[in-house]
Amino acid sequence: MKGHTLLVNVLVAAPLPKAFTYQWHSEHMPRFGMRVIVPWGRQHRIGLVQGVAPDQQLAENIKPVHSVLDQGECLSAQWQALIEFAAKYYHHPLGMIALEALPKALRVLNARGEEPVMVAKSREHAMKLLAERTDPDTSVKANKTKIDKLEKPELNAEQLDAVAQLANAKGFNPFLLYGVTGSGKTEVYLHTVEERLKQGEQVLVLLPEINLTPAAQALYKERLAPHRVVVMHSNLAELTRTKAWFEAATGAADVIIATRLGVLTPLPRLGMIVVDEEHDPSYKQQDGMRYHARDLALMLAKQREVPIVLGSATPALESWLKADLGAYKRLCLKNRAVLGASLPKVELINTANFPAKEGLSEPAMQALVQNFEAGKQSIVFLNRRGYAPQMVCNACGWVANCDHCTAHMVWHKNERMLRCHHCGAGQRVPTHCPTCGNQDLTGFGRGTQRIEETLAGLLPTANILRIDADSTRNKGQMEALLQQAHSGEADVLVGTQMIAKGHDFANVALVLALNVDASLYSHAYRAPERLFAQLMQVAGRAGRRAGDARMVVQTRYPQHPLFDALKAHNYESFASHEMQARKDARMPPFSHQATIRADHKKLANCLQFLSTARELGEPLVDADSPVFMCDPVPLTVVRVGGIERAQMLIESESRPALHRFLTQWLAQLHELPGSVRWFLEVDPVDL
Ligand SMILES: [Zn+2]
Ligand SMILES: [Zn+2]
Repeated sequence: MKGHTLLVNVLVAAPLPKAFTYQWHSEHMPRFGMRVIVPWGRQHRIGLVQGVAPDQQLAENIKPVHSVLDQGECLSAQWQALIEFAAKYYHHPLGMIALEALPKALRVLNARGEEPVMVAKSREHAMKLLAERTDPDTSVKANKTKIDKLEKPELNAEQLDAVAQLANAKGFNPFLLYGVTGSGKTEVYLHTVEERLKQGEQVLVLLPEINLTPAAQALYKERLAPHRVVVMHSNLAELTRTKAWFEAATGAADVIIATRLGVLTPLPRLGMIVVDEEHDPSYKQQDGMRYHARDLALMLAKQREVPIVLGSATPALESWLKADLGAYKRLCLKNRAVLGASLPKVELINTANFPAKEGLSEPAMQALVQNFEAGKQSIVFLNRRGYAPQMVCNACGWVANCDHCTAHMVWHKNERMLRCHHCGAGQRVPTHCPTCGNQDLTGFGRGTQRIEETLAGLLPTANILRIDADSTRNKGQMEALLQQAHSGEADVLVGTQMIAKGHDFANVALVLALNVDASLYSHAYRAPERLFAQLMQVAGRAGRRAGDARMVVQTRYPQHPLFDALKAHNYESFASHEMQARKDARMPPFSHQATIRADHKKLANCLQFLSTARELGEPLVDADSPVFMCDPVPLTVVRVGGIERAQMLIESESRPALHRFLTQWLAQLHELPGSVRWFLEVDPVDL
């Protein structure tokens, strides 16, 4: 009898690149995506059936599946293909990807070792909606009068052309929607989505920031009613997230607005994908499976044979090159859609001639005062939060450092705290220097809090708002701040890149950018690209409806070519300059990279591990696999949270060669003994 027991492979969230074999006693045939509870050590875990085990040899230690939770209705073969691709491309364990793609309630048992009740509730909720779904065409007609009453901006010729192409696109068809800030990309998406929904399709809309989802959801809901619009991001309450997932996965939802995790959701009726602000670094996941949501979205579109549109005013160079090569169709919006709105005039202040006092140069202060007196709003953009990036003792030279990281503590004056921005450690601000006893400790450098203080001194009657990760930490704070900004109550908005993204402030006539120089000559090769995108984006906040607007940039390097492109609002000239530099240096997108990171309490062990890894890799490199392994190096911030980190870069001009190499190499690395924690990252962005 024993010999006839069927064995199945089950995917479990474990950091090993394999499935685990169990006995199968259910009356149902095992198939991919069925969720099961399996014994795991002394506990139980949720796993996904991968399929019948290729090896049916029953061994003594093979345990039976404990119970079957569902029939895998939602996890289709299409979804399987996507996560299998992701696992292969990112060289990440399939079980980890598959399980982590699900909402927590579907993959983690509750304290009693049972499936949480919210799963059944959410499934019922979605099934009910699905049953109530009417023919999209008739429901749209029924709602037509309501839609016609809504204030819908007229599209200009460029927008109409873009909508026509996107709405009628068939099959796998990537578009790059390149439009200056304020050129009305959102209207193009809305009109396109409306057309696609008439065909009964589901549309996935990816946004880079959680902060942008509430406004997007409200807009899409209003404009596309009665179509079902759901939002998915990592900050949702678990029940809301689970419900939204079931709505998407059963096909009950029509539009799924999501941050990067949305790309791994099953979408049975998928008809189009929109990736807004496709250049945004937040699409890159920086832990676990380090995937890029834009790249996975392209793969998803290809597998499902649907069109995809990547939108940006400052496309990633990767995307721009693809459009140059004809792999993506470029759609251009060169005009601002709002009548009378113009891009701000960019002026540079050379801090060699006009030294900054408390962070602000004389001309910058004048501009702020003038703009305030004219009754207009100003934005002060500074990409560094906190009061001062360092606290120092001028008597003995002591600097407050983090005990756990090779990093300075950042002074947060409002909270009277020193905080480490790497590990999160915090401590009270000391009353005196721990080395010499001096009580006069000062801040070195400037963050948003300190500039806010300076501005309050400069404009004592102005209402100044600070928008950064600290001022928006609690629920509802961001909405409240934005509300004040939109209503015109705020005179000056000071903040990090958070204020640059997507928010439309009607009355902003002055944008002041501070502290940009570090990014001009950074060792990180993407720093200029990011800075340019941020400056263009924050420039786009000005003059939307305010008429003559100015952007003022304080810099020690006004001759830098990035500023010529900025002054001309010319992404294309920036891109061609930067593209040539990347080509000359054989950097992405002209080469393909991966890094292997090693973490351990002792740096020497990290470096030793990487050297061993390199020795293992060398025999795998040959004429067919032109792959180059660089020297292992400690990270710039070598220690974080008491753990030292080192990495090694692997490069190739051939992507297939790189992947062939990685596949063979990793098989050997997984066999290496030792206590060094390591992981691989494909297409790293922070180099
Ligand atoms: Zn001292
Ligand atoms: Zn730290």
